[in-house]
Amino acid sequence: MNSLIESIYFRMPQPIKNLLVGIKAKKNSKIRLQGKYKQFVKELNSNTFKDLDALRNLQVDKFKSLFIESVDNTEHYKELQVYKKELDSINSYEALLIFLKKLPLLDKESLRNSEVDNIARDADALNFTSGSTGSPTEINYDKEAMRYSFALWKRFHTWIGLPEEYSSVRFSGKIIIAPQQKKPPFWVYNKVNKQLLISTYHLTETNLKAIIDKIDKFKPQLLDGYPSALYVLANYILKNNIQLSFTPIAIATTAETLYSHHKKDIEAAFKSRVFNQYASSEGGSFITECAYENLHLNLDSGIFEFQNSEGEDALPGESAQLINTSFRNLKTPLIRYKTGDMIKLAKEAYIDCPCGSHMPIVDEIIGREDDILFTHEKGFVGRMDPAYKGLSNIKRSQIIQHSPSRIEIVQEVDEGYNKTLENKLISNFRDRLGSEVEIEVKIVDKIPLGKNGKFRSVLRKFNLEEIE
Ligand SMILES: [Zn+2]
Repeated sequence: MNSLIESIYFRMPQPIKNLLVGIKAKKNSKIRLQGKYKQFVKELNSNTFKDLDALRNLQVDKFKSLFIESVDNTEHYKELQVYKKELDSINSYEALLIFLKKLPLLDKESLRNSEVDNIARDADALNFTSGSTGSPTEINYDKEAMRYSFALWKRFHTWIGLPEEYSSVRFSGKIIIAPQQKKPPFWVYNKVNKQLLISTYHLTETNLKAIIDKIDKFKPQLLDGYPSALYVLANYILKNNIQLSFTPIAIATTAETLYSHHKKDIEAAFKSRVFNQYASSEGGSFITECAYENLHLNLDSGIFEFQNSEGEDALPGESAQLINTSFRNLKTPLIRYKTGDMIKLAKEAYIDCPCGSHMPIVDEIIGREDDILFTHEKGFVGRMDPAYKGLSNIKRSQIIQHSPSRIEIVQEVDEGYNKTLENKLISNFRDRLGSEVEIEVKIVDKIPLGKNGKFRSVLRKFNLEEIE
């Protein structure tokens, strides 16, 4: 929305806002849920339970189409034309992996600056993704890409047990309510999709009661969105011992790293399961959690390669960067894209999951490479969430690492917070980051949100490459 339309929209009475959101949703679903959408959903649902060989063959076929379109129609991949003649000889997944290794990696910088755009397809939608360094990248989608993406979402929801149609509450970074608004409603209702959209920019102590009352009255079957937003609500519900009058079928989190202590509290507050979903915001492949707490690689959404810190193929159990070739978007094709996201591989990737899927699993979505801390004493330190274990009265916490020797922990706390808790937190940090690093705790009223309303739990102010 441009700022004039936005300011007019903000002044509209609530029923008009709801109506406008409904009109927009109707228009969107015309694009998203038509064409091949239903066919995609059907195919994807049947893929969930296919055996591994069938899935691998499907990956080979999908890769060949992706590769041909990319080298024929994009400036960036044009130079890979020479490899086209080798495609015919790729007749197994193993052969495909060998072929892939010959192709160059695509990094974020090249994606932003070069012409990774399929000129044979129309740009029907545009998605901006914000890089950690602040420079947004434009990703074009065509209609088919949007439909495939929405079909993947739909399959995830079916996989975790949601019915064909369901009501939902969504927390996303969209600005739907004027930022300066002080009184409820802090939400809009999209009747078309039975979806209550809640502003993630208004989750302050004074507003939470009204928001939770609204959700309780609405009784959604699904809660979805940013885990940091869901956690703020969960924390308030638990602290005030609020008993909700409904139980959602599922809670689905996306777009930010889901930390285990957040998951635990969200599940306790809503008495329902949290299901994690991951896909890089540049249009990458999906990793989704099933009812048996296994994170399955959605093989029909792309090819997953994992590279360890030495740039070699990662071994089972190792933490590694995801290198992704995605089948989601042929308008902006990603071939061997360095996502910058770290995944911990399972010791045993091929299991007989009771959910019935043969798609391999990974152990954990660690998060963005940008979220990794570094100290000279301890080296690279991944997830810091265990450092908060057992510590109450912290509403939100952001770790800012200014240099390898200085860390600042910025926190929103409630009245029960005290020095003993703070000392325990610092000592937990020291266990992980060493005794030499300077650690300072700062209490603030509100930690500002990052781009797209996402909460950044870690901000590292220097590049890992700069470390001497
Ligand atoms: Zn499973």
